[in-house]
Amino acid sequence: MANKKVPLTDITVREHLFYAYANLAMAHTAVVKGQEKYERFNFMVRARLYKGLLTGTMNIRTLFDDEKIKLSIGTKCNYCNSTEQLALDHILAQKLGGKDVGDNLIYACKICNSSKGKKDLMEWMSFRGEEFLPLMVIRRYLKLVINYCVDNDLMDLKLSDNVLDNVPFKLILIPINYPSPHKLRLV
Ligand SMILES: [Zn+2]
Repeated sequence: MANKKVPLTDITVREHLFYAYANLAMAHTAVVKGQEKYERFNFMVRARLYKGLLTGTMNIRTLFDDEKIKLSIGTKCNYCNSTEQLALDHILAQKLGGKDVGDNLIYACKICNSSKGKKDLMEWMSFRGEEFLPLMVIRRYLKLVINYCVDNDLMDLKLSDNVLDNVPFKLILIPINYPSPHKLRLV
């Protein structure tokens, strides 16, 4: 992944998702510390986690942690924090094959819900403009995607594989690069 000469389509699903997850963790450490910019420590976190995930010495933490965060957020829109006109939203769109289970459900307000519509969450994020969704939402999404790919034996496919046209998410839209930490929020 560090080698820029490898075309995106030759990267495996495993490399792509773990690198995305390691970048998310890097952003997380910087936001928690209230940093203006990324520093050496953050890049070290990313490098260590990416290597650990690839070699299997580290794991993505379970969705259990995210469930606790979800409960502590309470009944608010997980996208914009509004408390008005809330409904349950499927993170991986049900229309595209996302499951109707607790892990895949969060509260969303009517405005976010109708703006998102049937779009994939990352598609919606890029459609919204430069502002990123809260990191906890992206983390939950990423874990759902990784679990789906593990369960369906997709991790070793190349990103160019046609099989990936039929999954309930768009791998290519999952962010690798994050804006400066002061432009991000956790929840
Ligand atoms: Zn909202």
